[in-house]
Amino acid sequence: MIRAELDYALKRLGAHQHVTFRNTEETSLDQLVLYVLPNREPGVFHLEDVVIAEETGTSEAILEGARLTVSLPTPLQPGCQVTLSLDYTVDIPRMGAGPFGRQGYLGYSDRQLNLALWFPAVAARAEGQWITPVPITVGEQTVLPAADFDLCLAVENLPPAMTVVGPGTASRESCGWRYQLANAREITLSLGDNYRQTVAPALDGTVMVELYTFESTPAEAAEQALHTAVAALNLFADLYGSYPYDRLIILESDFPDGMEFSGLVYVGGEWFRSYRGDPASYLTLITAHEVAHQWWYHRVGNDQSRHPWLDEALSTYSEYVFLQESYPPLVDWWWDFRVNSFHPTGFVDSTVYEFNTVRDYINAVYLRGAQFLHALRQEIGTEAFFAWLQTYATNMSGQIAAPADLWAALEPKLFDRTEEIRQTFLRQAQPDAP
Ligand SMILES: [Zn+2]
Repeated sequence: MIRAELDYALKRLGAHQHVTFRNTEETSLDQLVLYVLPNREPGVFHLEDVVIAEETGTSEAILEGARLTVSLPTPLQPGCQVTLSLDYTVDIPRMGAGPFGRQGYLGYSDRQLNLALWFPAVAARAEGQWITPVPITVGEQTVLPAADFDLCLAVENLPPAMTVVGPGTASRESCGWRYQLANAREITLSLGDNYRQTVAPALDGTVMVELYTFESTPAEAAEQALHTAVAALNLFADLYGSYPYDRLIILESDFPDGMEFSGLVYVGGEWFRSYRGDPASYLTLITAHEVAHQWWYHRVGNDQSRHPWLDEALSTYSEYVFLQESYPPLVDWWWDFRVNSFHPTGFVDSTVYEFNTVRDYINAVYLRGAQFLHALRQEIGTEAFFAWLQTYATNMSGQIAAPADLWAALEPKLFDRTEEIRQTFLRQAQPDAP
């Protein structure tokens, strides 16, 4: 539960947050660790107070980079839960400023203010360790366990033409704009000046896709993005498994490229501006790509620092899968334009920490990743390929997957048959035990 107040004039947000954590492991825990992405750079996140509910003893909280370690006065026994309350302020950075300026999903421009990954979130655990990857400017680094969010945002000094947009169940209450989102990786809001909303139904009317674009964006670009998002949602739900919410928000962003969140994605404004009425465009590709992340990131989580290919290779290859269904004449163009023209090299299963440039990272993880998945599909056949991905999505739904989980979903005889392909594209062709 988060109750937050944003002063729009100051671009400063104050928050009071309750975090309830249950120990589902078999050993007791004497610490709770939270991932605080906004503290990746100085001057943004200011921790004021951490209190453990029902405890009179003082706990020690240490914030180092993106890792907040809270010592528990009494160990948290298996099956028991603890509630922390945190108070903090966030000074929203200007988009484009500072080393993380490209990542404007936590940032503001003259017409948009984005609130993503701005709060402390309980860190994921693997092999008895808390996972808090070091943030860098290449790729994403989060590893977020699924949780239930209840966020209410009040805004002071809000210009009259600004609106607040968020995913899940939305309502206006005395605390402000309230959003509830169950089983999500995070909860993300966006404030925009004169956002133009267009909506269309998907999945037989069970989901409404809402697109928010800026006033100056041509209607034909908005139509193409909305049409693509609806068709992509329909197709991917059919191939990969169900979509869990009754809304999907697509936002034009004032920061580059695009970015995925639970129930809400951004598509870069440059792709709307460069759209010339031809579906063979980045607007189509990036919109389909970000929708695919609702399966490969949101539904099946992964460590985006150590195994970025698990979400990015699958989302990039999903662009091709989308074109095959919606624009079959464009598939050759896609290989040429999106993949082969970059002459991609590098191991698909690289970590984000191995690259100096975003281009080299995309070439290895996204583009070689798409070539890898296509080679696997050609070897095992289309039917087995999508059955495999659907099994993986079902098995790992709401969890954090490692490569071993992807391979465990593949029939053993098909796994053996694809050895050579894995040797070609991966550094580690034999996964660690799941
Ligand atoms: Zn992506």
